[in-house]
Amino acid sequence: MDNQQTVSTAGSLSVPPASVEKHHKYEFFKVVQGYLDEAARVIDLPEYIQTILSQPKNEIIINFPVKMDDGSIRLFKGYRVQHNNLLGPYKGGIRYHEGVSLDDVKALAAMMTWKCALMNLPLGGGKGGVKFDPNKVSRDELQRITRRFFHALGSNIGPDTDIPAPDVGTDAKAMAWAMDTYMNTVGSLFRQSVKGVVTGKPVAVGGTLGREKATGQGLVYTIQEWAEERDFQLGGATLIVQGFGNVGSFTSLILSRLGASTIAVGDHSGYLYNPEGFNPHKLQDYVKKNRSIAGYPGGRTISREEFFKIKADIFIPAALENQIGIDEAKSLQVRLVAEGANGPCSPEGERILIDRGIDILPDVLANAGGVTVSYYEWVQNKRSEHWTLEEVDERLEKAMQRAYREVVELARQKKCSMRVAAYAVALQRIAAAYGERDIFP
Ligand code: NAD
Repeated sequence: MDNQQTVSTAGSLSVPPASVEKHHKYEFFKVVQGYLDEAARVIDLPEYIQTILSQPKNEIIINFPVKMDDGSIRLFKGYRVQHNNLLGPYKGGIRYHEGVSLDDVKALAAMMTWKCALMNLPLGGGKGGVKFDPNKVSRDELQRITRRFFHALGSNIGPDTDIPAPDVGTDAKAMAWAMDTYMNTVGSLFRQSVKGVVTGKPVAVGGTLGREKATGQGLVYTIQEWAEERDFQLGGATLIVQGFGNVGSFTSLILSRLGASTIAVGDHSGYLYNPEGFNPHKLQDYVKKNRSIAGYPGGRTISREEFFKIKADIFIPAALENQIGIDEAKSLQVRLVAEGANGPCSPEGERILIDRGIDILPDVLANAGGVTVSYYEWVQNKRSEHWTLEEVDERLEKAMQRAYREVVELARQKKCSMRVAAYAVALQRIAAAYGERDIFP
């Protein structure tokens, strides 16, 4: 039996952080709440709406057993946090990482609420995760963990209630197992109509063209907007990229087509430097096969400290939260930090970057391309349609450009940071809906 409970306990210690704030526990959810408070002040958000949004609606914790390859039974802890569904079904990724905690998942779920609202999607915010290291289990074990977790989630998810997607440690293949598991629990009458229970699926089983690269593609569209505004040439620009998984690798690859070269990369295994620029295709293929950049020929090994001191035009954090603390923010020699990852800057780090005149494209805006194309996938599933890649990219580009403009304009109007402005645009949309609907009963 799986043990499912709804709890309201405080979060535990977040992912082991950067070199910063070593003596303080990093509480990601508190950081997100801090920005909510700031944005609420900026737009005079009615207090009752801020109160509702200050905590998620549901926090689900499931302890579920999985049979491992050696025959032993191991208990896994999984989370699904459903933050808000005012604008539509809960939507957000599933993370597999040994550092997953309730605190992280709550923070990430809340950010999904802002992200969907900012992108004007008819979706709410959710997030999930399972606490384990996916690099330390076999492929078969990974499949059993995924199927067991999604089976245990049961009717807590569904194409019209809560729609998971990939995040750190999960990919299209995991979504195919998740969809298949869900389909097998709903009965044959409904099987074909529930494809949209997850997004980020392989194209062969109902995924959309353009989803795999969508977060990187969306990030590049916002970088292009920034470059145009600053009269900055992306051709010949240099970047450093932390995290070379889905988001980091596609961002590096798409920017290389615009003439920008990646001169340093890092992941959980270490950091590499190549002043001539890496070949992002080859590095992406290497990471797909080897699960990390470790051992990749064509780069010199450097330390994490050295990585953060490299002079480049753009830094793409595309790994985990709390990577740019005080030390890193003081070290960075870039013009722009474009947040592929969620929450990569600590608030202290962000303040230093802003004081140093380094621009930040904040996560809620900059990495929203993933959920936007997930929405396109969900719509295609509902309508039994297949859109071309050009159609997906064109829609995404317009959506990112519109959101970018809205955020920039509000930041100028209210004289606040881009991050607070991104939250504020989202909150205005949520407030308008609460204003019309009121609270039941
Ligand atoms: P992924 O699992 O494909 O890649 C994660 C990368 O981070 C890997 O290269 C891994 O080695 C690296 N990493 C892990 N721990 C690290 C550490 N301690 N130091 C340095 N690097 C480390 O995950 P992803 O989907 O690319 O997600 C990356 C970030 O982007 C996350 O913050 C995620 O929430 C965010 N994001 C992802 C999507 C999406 O569509 N996948 C959408 C929006 C935001």
